[in-house]
Amino acid sequence: KMLGRMKVLDDSRNEFVSNVSHELKTPLTSMKVLADSLLIQEDVPAELYKEFMGDLSEEIERENKIINDLLSLVKMDKTANTLNIKSENMNVLIEKILKRLRPIAATRNIELVLESFRPVTAEIDEMKMSLALTNLVENAIKYNKDDGWVHVSLNADHKNCYIEVADSGIGIPEGAIEHVFERFYRVDKSHSREIGGTGLGLAIARSAVVMHRGAVRVYSQVDAGTTFTVRIPLTYVS
Ligand code: ADP
Repeated sequence: KMLGRMKVLDDSRNEFVSNVSHELKTPLTSMKVLADSLLIQEDVPAELYKEFMGDLSEEIERENKIINDLLSLVKMDKTANTLNIKSENMNVLIEKILKRLRPIAATRNIELVLESFRPVTAEIDEMKMSLALTNLVENAIKYNKDDGWVHVSLNADHKNCYIEVADSGIGIPEGAIEHVFERFYRVDKSHSREIGGTGLGLAIARSAVVMHRGAVRVYSQVDAGTTFTVRIPLTYVS
């Protein structure tokens, strides 16, 4: 039985490593093609050089994003028992996150509002919880439509804190919903690539929420929008 479990762990680790390698190779392949095609040509016009260098720079940025997300994910795993728990004002924390993301939402005229039902204090690791909530709100903006909205709400009862991130975006097809938290999973690989997604954001978010002994759920309807709900206990029990 023990050996069986080790085998399962080993298989999922192998799958993860093979996914990581694949994801990291894709931008590298593009960079190689771009560089080589410039190298084999004689007398390349300056404009073409510029264009290719721009493309190269984009691929480097993408590689960088994947590596950063991977590092966040690994950090979540490693420090699972070393959370830096402090009592935090959730209203302030969420308002800070929204303030940072508002300029991005504004470029597509997306309305980003917070509805606070009450003052909420919770025992959390601020960095990790911020990363989780940032990823959810970022997605709500990324997978939205121009002139759309993102509504974030914060509430609590005597035991738990509830955060909801609802958007008026493109939605998630029914068959994809159960997969969105998987590492590297993207509903639309090409579209998501354009938007710049790595497929790791929700895996990171869930990891952080679960470390706080909370839960995250998703409800969605194609072309109507998506709602992510997060529940976190107000007091952390290790
Ligand atoms: P990505 O880096 O691609 O955004 P995530 O792990 O954050 O990766 O999300 C996984 C996939 O789930 C995304 O590629 C997207 O297809 C889908 N998704 C996530 N959030 C939303 C949302 N708010 N609306 C629609 N689709 C979403």
